Amino acid sequence: MYLTIQGIVLRVTDYHDRDALLTLLTSHHGRLTVKARGLRRKNSPLTAPCQLLAYGEFTLFEYRGQYTINEAHTLELFNPLRRDLNKLSLGTYFAQVSEVLSQEDLPNPELQSLLLNSLYALSRLDLPQQQIKAVFELRAACLSGYTPDLFGCHVCGNQNPERFDLSAGHLECGSCRDPESPGIRMPVTGAVLEAMRYISLCDPKKLFSFRVGEQTLRQLSALTEAYLVTQLERGFSTLDFYKSLLNADSAEHRIS
Ligand SMILES: [Zn+2]
Repeated sequence: MYLTIQGIVLRVTDYHDRDALLTLLTSHHGRLTVKARGLRRKNSPLTAPCQLLAYGEFTLFEYRGQYTINEAHTLELFNPLRRDLNKLSLGTYFAQVSEVLSQEDLPNPELQSLLLNSLYALSRLDLPQQQIKAVFELRAACLSGYTPDLFGCHVCGNQNPERFDLSAGHLECGSCRDPESPGIRMPVTGAVLEAMRYISLCDPKKLFSFRVGEQTLRQLSALTEAYLVTQLERGFSTLDFYKSLLNADSAEHRIS
């Protein structure tokens, strides 16, 4: 049986001598593992569309629940992103998160669209990386059932609480601390809170259409990252790598 799908390559794993297994994020079939025969052979026609983070159209042959690529065409390679190691590693982190949040045979078109838009933003929009990262992290959490409660302190309803409880996913003021919740709290400013509300509620087409100052962006990105990692109860090797690149950049800055 043949099947044509559009998917983003989340991971490429070597398989046998010259083949590879691809993990794809598709809109109608969720996450899909497919075999790419001869991908590692020189001049394979599959090379371009089967790269990590490529978006393509794949014709698959299905036999007993196993998929093999019959034909593949590139739809978007996000080339500018591939020329910048920091952006490429941030995109790879987005792919790893998407793999964790998606499931086989469970359609999640919103997650696919978020990943596509975030890769597009990294590749073509002149926005700070921290902003794209924060949007992806928080919105991916929301799409996967981890929407935080951002409407005031969960105890007294105060609209300007100072802290966010990472495991409970809600806000509280300093004086309302819930002794029952052992979660780690992070401070939130009004500007950070406003940005979080915007990201979790806005129309998907306007996800990147907000501007905040540098300091707010730093706090926002630290918070969305800590929230996602806390909710998923795991770290990401790709995130560690991205951060190690940033640290190396800033060390180089200090030396020069
Ligand atoms: Zn309160």
